[in-house]
Amino acid sequence: MHQMTLAEIARGLADKKFSSEELTRSLLARIAQLDPQLNSFITVTPELAIAQAQAADARRAAGETGALLGAPLAHKDLFCTQGVRTSCASRMLDNFTAPYDATVVSRLAEAGAVSLGKTNMDEFAMGSGNESSFYGAVKNPWNLAHVPGGSSGGSAAAVAARLLPVATGTDTGGSIRQPAAFTNLTGLKPTYGRVSRWGMIAYASSLDQAGAFARTAEDCALLLQGMAGFDPQDSTSIDEPVPDYSASLNGSLQGLRIGLPKEYFGAGLDPRIGDLIQQAVKELEKLGATVKEVSLPNMQHAIPAYYVIAPAEASSNLSRFDGVRFGYRCENPADLTDLYKRSRGEGFGSEVQRRIMVGAYALSAGYYDAYYLQAQKIRRLIKNDFMAAFHDVDVILGPTTPNPAWKIGAKNADPVAEYLEDVYTITANLAGLPGLSMPAGFVDGLPVGVQLLAPYFQEGRLLNVAHQYQQATDWHTRSPEGF
Ligand code: GLN
Repeated sequence: MHQMTLAEIARGLADKKFSSEELTRSLLARIAQLDPQLNSFITVTPELAIAQAQAADARRAAGETGALLGAPLAHKDLFCTQGVRTSCASRMLDNFTAPYDATVVSRLAEAGAVSLGKTNMDEFAMGSGNESSFYGAVKNPWNLAHVPGGSSGGSAAAVAARLLPVATGTDTGGSIRQPAAFTNLTGLKPTYGRVSRWGMIAYASSLDQAGAFARTAEDCALLLQGMAGFDPQDSTSIDEPVPDYSASLNGSLQGLRIGLPKEYFGAGLDPRIGDLIQQAVKELEKLGATVKEVSLPNMQHAIPAYYVIAPAEASSNLSRFDGVRFGYRCENPADLTDLYKRSRGEGFGSEVQRRIMVGAYALSAGYYDAYYLQAQKIRRLIKNDFMAAFHDVDVILGPTTPNPAWKIGAKNADPVAEYLEDVYTITANLAGLPGLSMPAGFVDGLPVGVQLLAPYFQEGRLLNVAHQYQQATDWHTRSPEGF
């Protein structure tokens, strides 16, 4: 049962081949058996899942239909879930039970999806390896000694290991696309504003966007359909109609113009990944696409700009965790200052503290103009580069990551080495564009992803290209040994 995609599950449920309760029980058993090797879940919610599955079966028996009705999934543990611990993988929120559901959670629940629990992640979504979690590192099912990518590494590992067909994630600088690449999944980061951020614990609010993990583009389309749309609770949510993403999957790629940024293929890219990307391009050419070189000249400034803007916003967002209102509080504070200092010092891990300090510094009087304002200007230049490129091409294609998944611990001594791994993903967040990563082969037994970027609100185009590619290739169907 666990090998089925979401689309196959939807057909099986519609044809009454099995019930949602049967499927849910079998996946819960699989999680109990296999997740100790992976650590992909922070919280599993079997009672809630079975109750939701029974309710979905009852709705279906009463004549209701829908691709998500009775479909199992899990949420990254930064989506608030009413009555369930929402930890953000931090000691700070280890004791926090959310009093309400994030919009993503409530929309998917209304569509009848069954949530099996909350997945592991980097603490407060800061990281690229899922090593900074208070609950321990997540293992990559393709090689347990390697990271699954981050920050949504738990969602990625769980879907890749066939514990679930799909899961939600968030992407501030690559946290859906990069773990998707590292675990042989299809991961979609929508346009900024396409999916509501309400009830998502904020990291960097101008960059954060929720999206989908699945094994296929077809399944990403189904999950995104249940997540996307205007939400008056989120002031940056955009009031645009949501297209039928599944309907766009089968369009022909004849005449599709693919742009290859020349800056993507220079030093720093593992040449074996470069070769796999060229093979993917050839496949798409066979399907009718044409290829053209484009340029993103300001890409070299993206990492420095991002690692000013994201920490700046984080330092502001995380000021709410003060030991008073919610979350961790230190023992026996001597006075209010001691309470703040020790609650935050003990509640946050080292990477989160580093980012808060960098952000507070960059925003402080005298440095604001030198760092934050400069970074915002670079952000606009990066957006302008994309707008110019999309004048000539329909999608931009390249590697999702410069290297395959590294060994757990390999980058612990050097945070900047980890930041550099985000070079291909963070530009889409700085510009607010949609991006998708899809499986494109293996290097040393570790998966490699191709990234596609498109103009604003062209999620359907990304899913179309990925689906057509997946009809012609079988990388995405490979599963890790032992899972
Ligand atoms: N690796 C990036 C960071 O640490 C992106 C994380 C994310 O997308 N949440 O900030």
